[in-house]
Amino acid sequence: MSSPIDLHTHSTASDGVLPPASLVARAVERGVRVLALTDHDTTAGLVAARRSAQLKGVVLISGVEVSVTWAGRTFHIVGLGVDAENALLQRGLTKLRSARLQRAQEMARLLERVGLEDAWEGVRRLAQGDVVGRAHYARLLVLRGLVTDPSEAFHRYLSRGRPGYVQAQWVSLDEAVGWVHQAGGFAVLAHPLQYRYPRAFLRRMVAAFATAGGDALEIVTGGSTAEQISTAAAYARRLGLAGSLGSDFHTVDPPWNDLGNIRPLPQGVVPIWERGGLLPHTASVVPAEIDAPN
Ligand code: MN
Ligand code: MN
Ligand code: MN
Repeated sequence: MSSPIDLHTHSTASDGVLPPASLVARAVERGVRVLALTDHDTTAGLVAARRSAQLKGVVLISGVEVSVTWAGRTFHIVGLGVDAENALLQRGLTKLRSARLQRAQEMARLLERVGLEDAWEGVRRLAQGDVVGRAHYARLLVLRGLVTDPSEAFHRYLSRGRPGYVQAQWVSLDEAVGWVHQAGGFAVLAHPLQYRYPRAFLRRMVAAFATAGGDALEIVTGGSTAEQISTAAAYARRLGLAGSLGSDFHTVDPPWNDLGNIRPLPQGVVPIWERGGLLPHTASVVPAEIDAPN
């Protein structure tokens, strides 16, 4: 299972473990020919990623992952093909990073109360960029021996209802979609089936996303099951949304979301890269390869 297109990945500019240039190198080794870097709340990794992509002959799509609060719950919108110089987008990302910083500091305070000493200093050392998220706390909890792996850290400390959880107030759906569009990009609702929200609630959110002008659903993510893929594809078809796919790569450990380790988009869904403007004309051979058995 290897896809030549991977449109959702993270570097050390947010909560990934590989610097942008190493991420691009690994993508190339794994057969990815079209790669989007989509760090949380920042485009800071794109310059280094682009330099590396040009050297390696990979198509790099400028992306970002934006956190949204809708009906009191968090959703992620991936912007693809954005102009990172766009002032409205950058103002919005600055606002998001300040909300994220506040949340991270509050999480440190709460986690110190349940035994994670010097949580803020520890997490600052782990986060190489200025975006601190729950994934960093998960790694710190593992390093300090309070849990054995990151998923246990989320389960015991970092999820809703657990002692380190802080409900952040992100931005509205309309704001997020607006920033991405103003910056010339496509707005993709990230990993819709991974939030574990009730299906009726999720369907309402997907409909609101389409009404807000959203372009695509991320139908395939790292570890997606066949059932999840067909559910998301049905949502996209019903609402006239395109489809996207991406591993949501963060670390080299969990094999299910390594770069390019994703199933193809199912039939009957328009790939977002066929909407035009995302790929250079020279890369137009890529969609034909996507169903190749490799
Ligand atoms: Mn992340
Ligand atoms: Mn996400
Ligand atoms: Mn992500």
